[in-house]
Amino acid sequence: MCLSRFYPDEYAPSVFAIDYQKLFDLGYRGLLFDIDNTLVHHGDDGTPETDALLRRIESIGLRVLMLSNNDDARIRRFLKNLPGVPFVSMAGKPKKQGYLKALEVLGIDRAQAVVIGDQVFTDIFGANRCNIAGILVRFIHPDPAAPIGKRRRAEQLVLRLWQKNERKHRRLHAVRNEGETKAHEADETETVL
Ligand SMILES: [Mg+2]
Repeated sequence: MCLSRFYPDEYAPSVFAIDYQKLFDLGYRGLLFDIDNTLVHHGDDGTPETDALLRRIESIGLRVLMLSNNDDARIRRFLKNLPGVPFVSMAGKPKKQGYLKALEVLGIDRAQAVVIGDQVFTDIFGANRCNIAGILVRFIHPDPAAPIGKRRRAEQLVLRLWQKNERKHRRLHAVRNEGETKAHEADETETVL
């Protein structure tokens, strides 16, 4: 089986460690965000930090859209302070339909979009199927000391192979925010490499 279908274009330790200005400068115009374990821990409301981040991204000139397999009520709760942000609920990731609907909502084509999510087998796999760039972020875990499940272990294996595979087109190379990256480096090394 070809694992490259699960490879992201870039990996970042968190949504706060991505250089969004650089994404804009590279020509991207819309970001399709997963919510659960990407922006906040599963089921949590938006926080002042995530609200501020999404507002800052929009001020750069990037549109944001929430692309979630969860339902309307959950997404609206996350967006309670950001009612103008569009979303696609019950997206059925990794199926293509939700991603394509998101592009339609934003009025952009696939080459202008970036998917940001915490799951290799849904968020990133679906992005690759649609030929949309994908950034994998480390999943938010309420207790970093707690054991992780089989799926997360499989994801870490895919990530390790991706990091060794220089042939992978890393079209988003160096979109990490260097300052933020340093702060998360120890964590990342321990959990991913
Ligand atoms: Mg998620």
